[in-house]
Amino acid sequence: MLALAKRKLRCSFCGKSETEAARLIGGGSGRYICDACVGICNNILDATPVPFSGWDAMSEEQLLTAVKASEASIAALHALLQAQIEALRKQDVSWAAIGQALGVSRQAAWERFS
Ligand SMILES: [Zn+2]
Repeated sequence: MLALAKRKLRCSFCGKSETEAARLIGGGSGRYICDACVGICNNILDATPVPFSGWDAMSEEQLLTAVKASEASIAALHALLQAQIEALRKQDVSWAAIGQALGVSRQAAWERFS
């Protein structure tokens, strides 16, 4: 009898698994998005006027709101990346392998995340 391993569903944007994300929404064709990535997208959409006619068309107030949302999104993504790196290190994954996945040297990965 063949043992079939259940494949974990993952967020197509950040890579969080179904057990790591509070919610995972399917988008068809095997693509998913997690609650955290939906939140980041909502921040970007809230800060961007519709229809979007370029950053130069935005008022100072709109741009200041947009940069605040962008900065919050970057901070959230950085925290997510840091958590993923820490999980990899707990699994004894080498800095060389992490650096390779990120397209940087072992030293650069270590300096950035340790
Ligand atoms: Zn995600």
